[in-house]
Amino acid sequence: MSETTAKQDDVLRVDFGFRRELAEKVEGNLANYCYQCGACVGDCPATTYSDTFNPREIMLKVLYGVGDELLKEDSVLWQCTNCYNCAERCPQEVKPAEVIISLKNMLADRGIYPDPVEKVIKAFEETGRTVPINPAVDKHRARFDLPPMPPVPVDEVRVLLESSWGRADKGGDGRRPRVEVPEPAPARSPKELKRFAFFPGCLIPARYPAMESAIRRTLGRLGIDIADLDGASCCPDPIYFKSKDKLAWLAVAARNLALAEQSGLDIFTNCSGCTATLSETYHLLQDESLRAGVNDRLKRIGRRYHGISRVRHVVTLLRDEVGFDAVRESVVRPLEGLKVAIHYGCHLLKPSRIMQVDDPNDPTVMENLVAALGAIPVRHRNWYLCCGKACQAEEVPSNMMHDLLGAVHGERADVLCLICPTCFGQFDHGQMKVCKEFGEDFSTPPIYFFQLLAFAQGVPYDELGLERQRFKPECLRRFERAADPGGDSFPSRAQAE
Ligand code: SF4
Ligand code: SF4
Repeated sequence: MSETTAKQDDVLRVDFGFRRELAEKVEGNLANYCYQCGACVGDCPATTYSDTFNPREIMLKVLYGVGDELLKEDSVLWQCTNCYNCAERCPQEVKPAEVIISLKNMLADRGIYPDPVEKVIKAFEETGRTVPINPAVDKHRARFDLPPMPPVPVDEVRVLLESSWGRADKGGDGRRPRVEVPEPAPARSPKELKRFAFFPGCLIPARYPAMESAIRRTLGRLGIDIADLDGASCCPDPIYFKSKDKLAWLAVAARNLALAEQSGLDIFTNCSGCTATLSETYHLLQDESLRAGVNDRLKRIGRRYHGISRVRHVVTLLRDEVGFDAVRESVVRPLEGLKVAIHYGCHLLKPSRIMQVDDPNDPTVMENLVAALGAIPVRHRNWYLCCGKACQAEEVPSNMMHDLLGAVHGERADVLCLICPTCFGQFDHGQMKVCKEFGEDFSTPPIYFFQLLAFAQGVPYDELGLERQRFKPECLRRFERAADPGGDSFPSRAQAE
């Protein structure tokens, strides 16, 4: 009898071929430990905002081997927001989000992707970046005294994307070329401990250079020494490219980490997605057999990953290397009375065992940073919701953002402070769509934390690049005008109402 799923006369036959194929994917076998308790369902935003998505049911379908119900066009799998709440809640450490990603890898093997996902994957495969670079990008960067985007050695990336060695082995005498594999740099001396390799990723340097500029300006004032990484590619992104091929995703991320190892430095990022990719790679490649497989690929391009450089999100540099007091002392323009709603997003905090940034159920790092600027941190009732960018079913992110923005608006917050460029795009451009769809006007300007910090450190409003936002935080101008005889022409939201 063939191993196809048969559902005849109410008899359900397990498709062991499907289960075997899934088990070969990185972490694809975790569903085997599911005992169907349903703990992953309660805090799942895709379940809350969709009639058809349920992670427990997806795990059950995996256990029953009914792959054909999951591996199809318009699969329910694309409704997952990659928020990792399920991984936090599961008592069996199943990581449903990772099983779902492995299932998406199987969809990709069959050539099935939603269009937006395929577009991002293609851009990455062609350029090593997910955001296309053109002269306008470099012109925009020059406005903030930033150099042109550095080139990515795309040939190296392409070799790592080979699904087998077959194609790469072609040419020459058919043998693999001999390559010199560099060793990592020796350990740093104590005086170098405030020096970190900077991994800016794609989105911030290409689309939001004002954010990169703010990071460089503010960290310089706080005693953090930034070393630029030559030859880094996209992290690669933890949503789209990871959905195609998790093993290739690990190999490209390990190449980026290997660059940091050669510099002998720990690596920091300014994007929660980059932190997620690089931290998960660091974590997963502690498994020796997985690391050996990845190093087999890296050897082809003369590189090796050792697992030395640790990965940090830039907010943890402020908390752990600089300290909240030093941040407070750097402020020359205290933002007294400014109500700052906080959006943590998903990937800064979860999966918490990997990210190790803060308590995912009661984080405080952003509240403390906002308070250090003299502002009033606001935790609204929907603080734990995500931006929804990973979800490919429109109604899930728009309803979720509507509820989140409604809660922020209800608190009369002046701005929504966040720490990830993807979340920023959702709450700036995406907010327009949500307001239009629901006929509401939240008018809540999002702001990247380091631009707010730069402003509090005295950088003029007009140098922060905020004029390009759809929703501009003009309310900040009142802190510049407070000393003017003309007085305060930009009141807080509470004053205005
Ligand atoms: S929480 Fe874990 S064990 Fe329980 S249903 Fe979900 S995946 Fe299965
Ligand atoms: S990652 Fe988030 S949206 Fe996806 S299944 Fe888990 S809890 Fe639900």
